[in-house]
Amino acid sequence: MQFVVLTLFPELVQAVTQHGIVRRAIEQQAVKVSCYNPRDYTLDVHRTVDDRPYGGGPGMVMKSDCLLRAIRDVRQQYQGRLVYLSPQGEPLTQAKVQSFAQEPRLILLCGRYEGIDERILQLEVDEECSIGDYVLSGGELGAMVLIDSITRLLPGVLGHEDSAEQDSFAEGLLDCPHYTRPELVEGLEVPAVLKSGNHAAIARWRKKQMLGATWLKRPDLLAKKDLSAAEQALLNEFRQEYKVSSEVIS
Ligand code: SAM
Repeated sequence: MQFVVLTLFPELVQAVTQHGIVRRAIEQQAVKVSCYNPRDYTLDVHRTVDDRPYGGGPGMVMKSDCLLRAIRDVRQQYQGRLVYLSPQGEPLTQAKVQSFAQEPRLILLCGRYEGIDERILQLEVDEECSIGDYVLSGGELGAMVLIDSITRLLPGVLGHEDSAEQDSFAEGLLDCPHYTRPELVEGLEVPAVLKSGNHAAIARWRKKQMLGATWLKRPDLLAKKDLSAAEQALLNEFRQEYKVSSEVIS
């Protein structure tokens, strides 16, 4: 998978390539990240990338000329969907990340200032992608979110082949709780079933916790999911146990 990032701040984006899973994926040649800077496509002596907005108002707008030259140079070298990181785009979900992970290459365009000249959207952008309903100062963090979340899903990238499948959202549910040594932390014990060695019981407990965590923290996800009879029974069991433990505490 290749990511080609158009950004005024390539050093920001490079940070995601230098640590952890993305770095390992690059070393394994499962992923390649290349950055292109629109400033390198300016023709004036000041290397100007922004200008005042028509109609007045605050802020500056990223100019179309250097952006068009940068995008067209990149498109001549690489074929791929051009995704503009934007608060106005389709909100990113794990399902969307999974669909991006099927692409051989993505070109990620990072805006700055008030954003890019609207005509770039009409001429060159295949889709807009938002990482949430809030406004960032630039698209670089969004590009890094995409690079990280997509890389995790590429075959062979995660150490354990199953680990992405058990993450939150993979099955439309949140992940179950995790514990590691020591067994006792300030009076709090690891659930006994996790130490039982009974794999079927552990799998059942984890599924029940996934259903329970989603019910408690993200009921909106649960409302979208068709639960099997077995899952509904597990959730009922969790709710019963939760009710009893809440009554004990209060
Ligand atoms: N004036 C724009 C608006 O309100 O829609 C916001 C511009 S923002 C200050 C500058 C750049 O940050 C955008 O062009 C975009 O690339 C990026 N950005 C901001 N918020 C984002 C978000 N939630 N998701 C993805 N990119 C975002």
